[in-house]
Amino acid sequence: MNEPTRADAVADPASPYALRKLASIALDALADGAAARGGPLPAGGPEQVAARTRALCTPVLPEEGVGAADALYDVARAAAEGAADPSDPHCVAHLHCPPLAVAAAADLVASALNPSMDSWDQAPAAAVIEAEVTAALARLVYPHHPAPDAVITSGGTESNLVALLLGRERARATGARTVQVLVGANAHHSVRRAAWMLGLPTPLVVDCPGGRMSPAALDRALVECAGPALVVATAGTTDEGLIDPLPEIAEVARFHGAELHVDAAYGGPLLFSDTLAPRLAGIEHAVSVTYDLHKLGWQPVAAGVLAVADAQVLEPLALTADYLNADDDTEAGLPDLLGRSIRTSRRPDVLKIATTLRALGRRGLGATVEHCVRTAADVARAVDAHPALRRRPGDVGISTVLFRPAAADALPDADGDELVAAVRRDLLAEGRAVLGRATVADGDGRQRLWLKVTLLHPSTTGDDLAPLLDLIAEQAERLAPASMAA
Ligand SMILES: *Cc1c(COP(=O)(O)O)cnc(C)c1O
Repeated sequence: MNEPTRADAVADPASPYALRKLASIALDALADGAAARGGPLPAGGPEQVAARTRALCTPVLPEEGVGAADALYDVARAAAEGAADPSDPHCVAHLHCPPLAVAAAADLVASALNPSMDSWDQAPAAAVIEAEVTAALARLVYPHHPAPDAVITSGGTESNLVALLLGRERARATGARTVQVLVGANAHHSVRRAAWMLGLPTPLVVDCPGGRMSPAALDRALVECAGPALVVATAGTTDEGLIDPLPEIAEVARFHGAELHVDAAYGGPLLFSDTLAPRLAGIEHAVSVTYDLHKLGWQPVAAGVLAVADAQVLEPLALTADYLNADDDTEAGLPDLLGRSIRTSRRPDVLKIATTLRALGRRGLGATVEHCVRTAADVARAVDAHPALRRRPGDVGISTVLFRPAAADALPDADGDELVAAVRRDLLAEGRAVLGRATVADGDGRQRLWLKVTLLHPSTTGDDLAPLLDLIAEQAERLAPASMAA
């Protein structure tokens, strides 16, 4: 291929060299890399992966460039060959979804057009699309509120940070110095980190027997709080996919005059489904709700949402910078985007979200969430029926199943946990499975280590996962101390 000139290298779709040609090179490299990998992740562990990756695409800053085509092939091939591939049924560790093709394609458009979402003169149409999408995403959470709103974030971490920031500003508006955050012991670490970043008092931790926040424990904790308080409940815990009892928590918070934020980074998309939305009943009492579309939602990272019950809640984000949203421009009717984020330059993540919402519709998204929930139930049943595996007693979370090899139960606690950890690590090193881990209480109340599978694939079924369960059982049998076999 001829080397593109500097001008041709710009992602102008009319250019013969640029995007169309390069896109097909990228797709070839993705296919070649996946074929070379041949499994859910590369075999050999960190050192071998590093050596192979470096061999394929370094030096990253050569004195003379290798050209667009070769560089793209090399880097894409290396990234694909060494990928942990969430579209493989054996890659089920995290809230790490296989992205929909339609969303990935829309993300290419976002990169090619490069609208920046901090001023209207950089994103005239993208701003309209964002306004439509955020309105729809807000109505999903607050269908009966007169003026809900939402902003697009980089994910749950940023959504929780902004939620706490807005909570602090509401408290200050009442003359208080700060706000006391209360979190469940089951809360995501980003909530505590947000409190730390914002200079808030250390959050009070509320007991979560069985993995869900206890309303009685929350009640006791709120009695201790003198000033403004913000309760952060979780709808879809990261470890187990459990949903806090939102109606009871909202009632306790209301009784004490505290506000409620719900971290539904994982569970929020249940709202797309008529049959699953009732599991989030009570969420409409929250002043703000975090939810991600790069978990259930099947978007490439990043696709986060922070919905608020009333648009006024977002007012503290307002900011004027003469070069982006001068008062006279705003008065003349140019939309003001700067106050819709804590970021300045901002990727139009909304384009892939808009494309996906329009492609699948609410029903299509709801059905896909239902599929993942059903797959989790099927896997739970298969674990229960498996002679060499034991599921963590209790409810199956949204689409998360915890279990351990029965061989681990036959060992003293510490050795059992070590076996569970070794099974996971060996399957990773062999490139055969990507499993998660979680330390949570067993039926006897003792903390134990579990294997975790998080089912986010839009089409993988319980049957597709049966070989994974057998693989885990075999690996445990192989690794269990020889004395066990006797
Ligand atoms: C994933 C997750 C987060 C963090 O979200 P990111 O999108 O990774 O920043 C926060 N809270 C919960 C409950 C999560 O599952």
